[in-house]
Amino acid sequence: MNPRRPSRQIVLGDDRTGRVRVGGGLPRAHPMADGSTELAPVSVQTMTAGYTHTIDACVAEIHKLHSAGADVVRVAVPERKDTEALAEILKQTSVPIVADVHFHFKRALEAVEAGVHKIRLNPGNISDRPQVEAVISACKDAGIPIRVGVNEGSIIERRDKQKRLKELGAVFGEHKHGYLLAIMITKLEEYLDIFYENDFYDIAISAKSMDAALTIDAYAEIAKRFPHPLHLGVTHAGPKETGCIRSIAALGSLLTRGVGDTIRISYANDPIYEVEDGLELLWSLGMRERKGAELIACPTCGRIQVDLFTLVQEVRQELADHVELPIKVAVLGCIVNGPGEAEGADVAVFAGDRRGIIYVQGEKVANVPEEEILPKLREACLEFQDRVRSGEVTLGEKKVSIVPPDPEGELGSGWEKMAAERIASDGGTTPLTIKST
Ligand code: SF4
Repeated sequence: MNPRRPSRQIVLGDDRTGRVRVGGGLPRAHPMADGSTELAPVSVQTMTAGYTHTIDACVAEIHKLHSAGADVVRVAVPERKDTEALAEILKQTSVPIVADVHFHFKRALEAVEAGVHKIRLNPGNISDRPQVEAVISACKDAGIPIRVGVNEGSIIERRDKQKRLKELGAVFGEHKHGYLLAIMITKLEEYLDIFYENDFYDIAISAKSMDAALTIDAYAEIAKRFPHPLHLGVTHAGPKETGCIRSIAALGSLLTRGVGDTIRISYANDPIYEVEDGLELLWSLGMRERKGAELIACPTCGRIQVDLFTLVQEVRQELADHVELPIKVAVLGCIVNGPGEAEGADVAVFAGDRRGIIYVQGEKVANVPEEEILPKLREACLEFQDRVRSGEVTLGEKKVSIVPPDPEGELGSGWEKMAAERIASDGGTTPLTIKST
């Protein structure tokens, strides 16, 4: 991991919502230094999927996303009725809200008037200088930041046909990434000049593409050129199943290089998944303190002797419902790699011959049949959580040393017995599958 890149810091929110800081730590000697001495933790953002003007539904969606861990929530304001709804939405919510503005600069002015905590502008569709200056002036008076977000999809000029032809010609005639990157940087420079000339520096930048490689190139280049915090994202990443890979490839690569101050993963799905996956990315990289249990599980192989896929899903749900501390829980299919992989886990189970042996920080606490693994594991996790809370034990203590149980003893001889059972039932042809629930 490279150290985080310092930048100016922007602040979103107020006394009621609490303040979310983004970026920071620019050296005092830098001409744009703002005095922030520390980099803020990388924050997670998402965007509501419903209509902003349906106030009750919008408030409910914001509450849901905030409860899931979103630090900041953005809403679309395409129409006047959306900005009219903002004042009431802001009254009923307790997380910083960003108004996403395209095409109509007046929506930005109305959103600022309503009290939003940040405005997002797209240079691809609000480029008229007096209009941009009006938004800058309103945000300056309100003391709120602006995100300048260029997107691959709206970066090519579409109104000026001559310019568009020239740009498109160049796109097809040159290396695509190189040319698009050049347009992104040029448009950002032109746009930011308006802000600087108006003495406005509370800016975040994004430069999104649906192409993970272009996204990495664009942010890496922008990180070198502009001293502002960076909002990372892959735009139009697609359905969760593939969008996850696309987003994590780009965002994970940038974050490990120290680039990125706030992230938004975008899926064609319920935005709650964007929050969950964004948090998991930051937790996995050790960039945020984990909330809730961490589940480790083996992929299973020909040694498996319990229905581990179903067990893992059930354990995941139990932990999400009942465990608040970052307890590390391991669910492993057998005694071959189980003990080694379970070392370092606070609570572990490894299975064999339709049974499971449960350990708490290396101490064996139960040996139960398969159907009792889930309740016994839940009990062990909750007891352990209580002991951590009372100060009796500490999370992640490294004195764990699990001795593999005797495969002929506590867990039985397993493989032969299970194989015989499967052969007796269907000739051994049906693979183990997840039980339908
Ligand atoms: S823990 Fe056992 S069952 Fe799971 S993958 Fe490793 S060897 Fe296979």
